[in-house]
Amino acid sequence: MAALMPQRCVSGLASLPFLHYPMEVKLLENALKFLFEGQSLATIKKYVQKKMRRLEKGLVSPQDLIICKENKVNSYKRPHLQPVVVACARGREADTANICLYGERVPYLVTYGARTNRLIDNVCSLYDFLYDETAFLNTKYYIKKQLIPPLSRVFGLLGEDPENWYAELSVRKKAPSTESAFSRRSLPEVSSLRARSPPRKKRVIEQYYSSKNCAVCHSFCTEEDASLCQPCRASPQKSYFCLLSAQRNVEYTRKHLYMICSRCLGEPSEQAIDQCISLDCPIFYERVKINKKVRQELPNYRHLLQKF
Ligand SMILES: [Zn+2]
Ligand SMILES: [Zn+2]
Repeated sequence: MAALMPQRCVSGLASLPFLHYPMEVKLLENALKFLFEGQSLATIKKYVQKKMRRLEKGLVSPQDLIICKENKVNSYKRPHLQPVVVACARGREADTANICLYGERVPYLVTYGARTNRLIDNVCSLYDFLYDETAFLNTKYYIKKQLIPPLSRVFGLLGEDPENWYAELSVRKKAPSTESAFSRRSLPEVSSLRARSPPRKKRVIEQYYSSKNCAVCHSFCTEEDASLCQPCRASPQKSYFCLLSAQRNVEYTRKHLYMICSRCLGEPSEQAIDQCISLDCPIFYERVKINKKVRQELPNYRHLLQKF
């Protein structure tokens, strides 16, 4: 029986061209593997939906979302609208030695922008993203524009519509995700990049997170200016405990990550650890992420906890 099963004899990458970021490659590879192992489409759908949800919740490391595209500046009709070209230009403005050649693969991330919805205004380099307090990954772009098309190419042949898989997720969730709710500092225009180092304004978390979501259960909140939803306000003890454990969780995670890095470096000081910015180290991304959380979420937790 097993001998009659179709065999997949090319590697995932080779059989799936046009894939752009590591998570996408892994997901497609696994989905195909499950398909050839004879798993049901329902199982595969569940797997893909689980990964999409992880991505939406911001649980995927930016390392796995770096889009790498070939720079073919001369062959584009309107090069100034190509994310790759913009990413190159931004890199060059930041560091004049950073010249990308024709055909070179350029890494970049796609974030949310408050000012415009144009893709090119939301292209940013990994370092820019990591150190921009207000940058959030554009999960909708990653799913809709990057993940769904190759999935549709494969599963469309089998009568499935991955776009519906994603739509089902948003129906179940009901609350609009973080999208468009941020008042994020937009990326500087290519030309104004030289005059960077804008003063970083301190902002409260409500401005980052969709104010429509409850701080405790993250569910959709209909009332304006309410940090907690009605059910969460009705059970203050439970909400207090939730906020407290969320706060402790952030603090503990940070401590844990710094401990790992201090062992790796053989150096206990946080200053020394912060200077380690190896892009190959997965802990680095986690560290930047948790530090963002510490700066943005902890004040809010404290603020809310005081209200009880
Ligand atoms: Zn709630
Ligand atoms: Zn490290």
